[in-house]
Amino acid sequence: LHTRLPAVGTTVFTRMSALAAQHGAVNLGQGFPDFDCEPALIDAVSDAMRAGNNQYPLMTGAAPLREAIAAKIASRYGHDYDAASEITVTAGATQALTTAILCCVHPGDEVIVIEPAYDSYLPAIALAGGVPVLVAMEVDERGYSVPWDKLAAAVSPQTRLIIINTPHNPTGTIVRVADLEKLADIVRGTQIVLLSDEVYEHMVYDGVPHASLSRHAELAARAFIVSSFGKTYHVTGWKVGYVAAPSTMTAEFRKVHQYNVFTVNTPMQHGLASYMADPQPYLQLPAFYQRKRDLFRAGLAGSRFELLPADGTYFQCVKYSAISQDSEAQFAEWLTTELKVAAIPVSAFYAQGKESGIVRFCFAKRDETLNLALARLRTI
Ligand code: PMP
Ligand code: GLN
Repeated sequence: LHTRLPAVGTTVFTRMSALAAQHGAVNLGQGFPDFDCEPALIDAVSDAMRAGNNQYPLMTGAAPLREAIAAKIASRYGHDYDAASEITVTAGATQALTTAILCCVHPGDEVIVIEPAYDSYLPAIALAGGVPVLVAMEVDERGYSVPWDKLAAAVSPQTRLIIINTPHNPTGTIVRVADLEKLADIVRGTQIVLLSDEVYEHMVYDGVPHASLSRHAELAARAFIVSSFGKTYHVTGWKVGYVAAPSTMTAEFRKVHQYNVFTVNTPMQHGLASYMADPQPYLQLPAFYQRKRDLFRAGLAGSRFELLPADGTYFQCVKYSAISQDSEAQFAEWLTTELKVAAIPVSAFYAQGKESGIVRFCFAKRDETLNLALARLRTI
């Protein structure tokens, strides 16, 4: 078999979760909540099933869900998307990201990716025959930041796409609303398309607003904006997400979507649509996770781990140079097998495995889980 992705192995999330299970470790590695969603959401889905919403929905997604998504974006970010021609429901954010890349990247096109980067971007670019152009985030004692000048310098006549991720996995940094203007300066006058991964849009802390590209009309006019209900409603296993984009871009997206998945399961879509009528669950999310972030940070404050800022997402990155000089992968493995707390090496998010002496913990866990992990982490 002459395969397309010969170098791709099992994801770091799958490997670390398996190692955690094998060693009975508290799993702060793979990002998913260890608590359940609201019962009302499950009721909404079972109501949708009993009401007979069990056959294929429209290829583009169930109309009530697309309308609920468009209404949410309009109220949160002030941009009006047409639910019929500009919103498409996808099988999680992963499918939305891959489909967006496949529908516009041609062999040889350059795609600018900011590192560290979520692990699905590079394989999707490879499948499209694109050439990744990697721009490393800067990291200092104030944490990670996007080097906008380096991003501008990476643009060439071959640049087709720039991928943005805010709030950012794994670093927990955010793009500020004021930074959107820097991005607009970079792409103005070009044909560059933007792909904005905003799956953690409702997890921004300390009262800071989420810098959705949809807030900026010029950026929205050339952006695929991706989000996921898995993060927002604590249902990562449901795999329902969406992409919002101008109608001309959405039309191209749907050509690939139609023959890739065709559509996404019906009852979840109707259940999500009725649950979304109440904005409270996502409005309460920042306070809910900020409290967990603060609990986790307070628990590590007196330890030998050095905390990096955590402005968004449900991840906390820490430096461990005071504890060990091991590689990140070795240290994460030692944490999992010996200390029995699983973490993710940030090097896994760099194409060349760059080492920074930093690992990522997920704090989307019950308080008792976090307290158990903290008790162990404070012993070293
Ligand atoms: N992008 C980022 C940055 C993520 O962290 C995740 C979830 N781990 C995804 C995309 C994928 O989301 P989904 O599970 O909805 O496919
Ligand atoms: N997005 C999750 C994380 O970063 C994992 C998703 C996955 O397992 N593919 O931990």
